[in-house]
Amino acid sequence: MILPIVSYGNAILKSRARDITADYPGLQALISDMFETMQSASGVGLAAPQVNLGIRLFVVDATPFADEDPRAKNFQKVFINPRITERSGEDVLYEEGCLSFPGIREEVSRKSSIRITYQDAQFQSHDEVYDGIIARIIQHEYDHIEGLLIVDHLSSLRKMLLKRRLKELTLGQVKVAYRMIFPGQRRQAATAN
Ligand SMILES: [Zn+2]
Repeated sequence: MILPIVSYGNAILKSRARDITADYPGLQALISDMFETMQSASGVGLAAPQVNLGIRLFVVDATPFADEDPRAKNFQKVFINPRITERSGEDVLYEEGCLSFPGIREEVSRKSSIRITYQDAQFQSHDEVYDGIIARIIQHEYDHIEGLLIVDHLSSLRKMLLKRRLKELTLGQVKVAYRMIFPGQRRQAATAN
């Protein structure tokens, strides 16, 4: 099932998500819905707060970057209760998009390498090291469960230049090819009831 994606401006994207246990209701269906939602929106990562759930879970499918890095091919993983325990290497600038910011791409500086502990869909624990594009995607998704967004990485000048477009986004005044929840829309629905 394809889930609607929460846009910038919704409070859940600014909140730190909480850990879950293996008996979290509907976990396997949620993971499969999140993969389907991400792929149908041509995304390479999707975090639970982006589908309106404040839990520490995100999915990654790096396959679209296979030309750039062969390790990205078929890299499809779910990360549950993850903790980035180490960030190392150089600072790398790279242009990122985000399904919660349709139409906006901004250069974000991140460390080239990370170490991460997490549980998989069967709640088996892992401790792994990543670099390159996979480390990039994981750090972006990890930000989401910490309540951080690409705009939080930008200079005040970049943020000022984006101000009008961000405002339009919170009002739902953007063209998007996938279903979204805009803060403005939700208010309208509430007053209609
Ligand atoms: Zn994002």
